[in-house]
Amino acid sequence: MTDDDPISLPAHDWPEFPPGLVWLVGAGPGEPGLLTLQGLHALRAADVIVHDALVDGRILEWRRADTQLEYAGKRGGKPSARQRDISHRLIELSRDGQRVLRLKGGDPFVFGRGGEEAQTLVQAGVPIRVTPGISAGIGGLAYAGIPVTHRDVNQAVTFLTGHDQTGLTPAALDWPALARGSQVLVMYMAMKHLPKIADALLAAGRRPDEPLAIVSNATLPGMRVLETTLGTASHDAEAQSMEAPAIVCLGRVVLMRQAIDWMSQLQGNPPRNPDPLGGGARTTG
Ligand code: SAH
Repeated sequence: MTDDDPISLPAHDWPEFPPGLVWLVGAGPGEPGLLTLQGLHALRAADVIVHDALVDGRILEWRRADTQLEYAGKRGGKPSARQRDISHRLIELSRDGQRVLRLKGGDPFVFGRGGEEAQTLVQAGVPIRVTPGISAGIGGLAYAGIPVTHRDVNQAVTFLTGHDQTGLTPAALDWPALARGSQVLVMYMAMKHLPKIADALLAAGRRPDEPLAIVSNATLPGMRVLETTLGTASHDAEAQSMEAPAIVCLGRVVLMRQAIDWMSQLQGNPPRNPDPLGGGARTTG
């Protein structure tokens, strides 16, 4: 990135970025083009960028040449202690009078601890601004040709995390209620405990032949999609070495990929099945 190659944004009433402000920005699921324009504006104006591991390096290259970069990814060990460190670092940078961009993968307030950071900053009297981002559980699935809602399948969608602060399957989740209550479940951080999660959902009455997709590295060049079922998911995920970061989607919306896997179609492949839900042609109404 050099300043001879400035990125000019369309004229717009962009929010100000005064010194001392900490601006939390969602970078989107991976592909740099999925950053918002407001996010790009903030990136170009920041003095320092504090970013997570999930933020693609190509986005960071859009910073000004004189913008400092700080990596704040968790490096194993004690994630919560580390989280405190990150918040304190943000406070320190703000008190130094820096324009601080806190860049997080996906949306900052979706399973990303952005809420905790924002609260700590507010409690410390640090002014903040928040720019949402495209969350992997929506945008990542769209890249796989899976709509999170479809009129013929679901009127609700539930987002959940496959592990909580303890690192175990979230004890707080009422799996039977989830299994009954939502036709589509979108699971973040669910790979490690996939066998346990699948067992819990099967025990709660979800059918073993229910479609399930795993989308790994969604929107990125290394994106991989596994289409399987709830009953075979754990086995297939291991056999296919599906890796994190990955989104797991359970529900009949997964079938829609047979019709709208647009990436494959752009490569010249025909749709596998134009009517996977068997609802006939959709026109209007
Ligand atoms: N704030 C982020 C989520 C952070 S939690 C968001 O809104 O998307 C990290 C989890 O997000 C990962 O374990 C994975 O489940 C999911 N994730 C993030 N980026 C992803 C990607 N490119 N592909 C698949 N899953 C992704």
